[in-house]
Amino acid sequence: MFVSPSSCLVDAGGAMTSATGAKRTRIRDLAGLFADEAAFAALAATSGDAIAYGVDEFRPERVTPQELIFGTSTLGPGRVGDEFFMTRGHIHVKSDRPEIYFCQEGRGVMHMELPSGETQPMEMHPGTVIHVPPFWIHRSVNTGTAPLVTFFCYPADAGQDYEIIARAGGMKTLIVADGDGWREAPNPRYRGRDAGEIARYMGAAA
Ligand code: ZN
Repeated sequence: MFVSPSSCLVDAGGAMTSATGAKRTRIRDLAGLFADEAAFAALAATSGDAIAYGVDEFRPERVTPQELIFGTSTLGPGRVGDEFFMTRGHIHVKSDRPEIYFCQEGRGVMHMELPSGETQPMEMHPGTVIHVPPFWIHRSVNTGTAPLVTFFCYPADAGQDYEIIARAGGMKTLIVADGDGWREAPNPRYRGRDAGEIARYMGAAA
């Protein structure tokens, strides 16, 4: 049994033809993500219904480890206190599955963290390809003034686990504004993970 090849077009804004699904995340859906809760409450009161980011994706008919899911993510610009707008972030349910991101438009950071707490923010601008290796938590951060558009691709059986970040009180570091740029700052709410949780996510790689 074979699947017929297909192609699609992605425009500069991230819209993708032949997408099989789309998801839009509103600002109010990001409650709890930002350190400055008062600034978030003020933003949510005026702009809670606004779309923070959207994903268009192509999922194959059959989800197998040999198949791929690909699509686009479009994350709007903005700040909550010192922090830039960002995606919720996740680790893959099958945590040894990697992902590729290609930055089409905008400026940003792919913020990555191992379950054991090492962080690695990597800058993105148009043309940047980010390899997110197995076991890395990952989140996109828009450090620019225009939408950040990335194209992503990952094994179809990977799945997304969003709770790993929430349970730890966020990622270990925040990406905050610094003049015209950004810097990594300690996250005062970060609780980390115990050895058992790290081992569940990383297995023999811990
Ligand atoms: Zn992912």
